[in-house]
Amino acid sequence: MKFKRTEYPTTMATSAAMSFLSMANNPYLYEYMGRNVQLPSKKLPILLPDKCPCCGKVLSTEILPIRAVNNITDNEQKECTVISIYRCTSCNELFTVINTVKTKLVFNDEKFDTDNAISEPVGIYPFEMENVEFDEDISDLSSSFVEVYKQAERAEHAEHDGLNLICGMAYRRALEFLVRDYCVDKFPEKVSEIDTKSLSEKIKNYITDDSDIKTLAEKATWLGNDQTHVINKHPDRDVNDIKQFIQMIVAKIKIKMVVADAETIKKG
Ligand SMILES: [Zn+2]
Repeated sequence: MKFKRTEYPTTMATSAAMSFLSMANNPYLYEYMGRNVQLPSKKLPILLPDKCPCCGKVLSTEILPIRAVNNITDNEQKECTVISIYRCTSCNELFTVINTVKTKLVFNDEKFDTDNAISEPVGIYPFEMENVEFDEDISDLSSSFVEVYKQAERAEHAEHDGLNLICGMAYRRALEFLVRDYCVDKFPEKVSEIDTKSLSEKIKNYITDDSDIKTLAEKATWLGNDQTHVINKHPDRDVNDIKQFIQMIVAKIKIKMVVADAETIKKG
């Protein structure tokens, strides 16, 4: 799923809630509402999805939400959440995109600087974004890896912020943490020695127990280097290859952990 950023008037949820509350007590207000009453709104950056999460069809580049709502309660706050509701013209399903807006200025600033506000996707419902979930064992092994990997995913989704250019580098950085912590787990007594080695040296010298992990880590490093260098030595490969290799390394590590656990079971 890719997103395109645009500015869109978002209704203040607090004022909408008050209006609906008063409507519930006063049926005449429903009619009033039908005449398109404008609730207070604020133009904020929202994220337009490129595909329908329900049927997978590519959405028109002209698509806009039916309605977008923000949760600004205090004009002094610098961060808020926006929910945008859409209808897919292909499958007629309704879906929502949730994004955060972070700004250096407060929301009541006269010249609210949306250009410098950062807008990040949080989720798309009824379907989650295709983010990888890592097992607790992997987080225990390398919490830095999991954290950086998730940051890389956010950068990848954030095409509109120009961050996608750095997501390849971020995946490589995640790999560095994973390899480092895997090696230290295997050779805890050599931690200070390991920390002086480059990523390639760590892979070569300390990943000695699994040739698949070694190969995947080595190749992911090469592709990751392409993301940081001016000349791409493997133009037929991209960031999806790096992601796949990292995920397979994680899967192999998990298998080894489960096997090690199984081996502790003694015959009764
Ligand atoms: Zn659809």
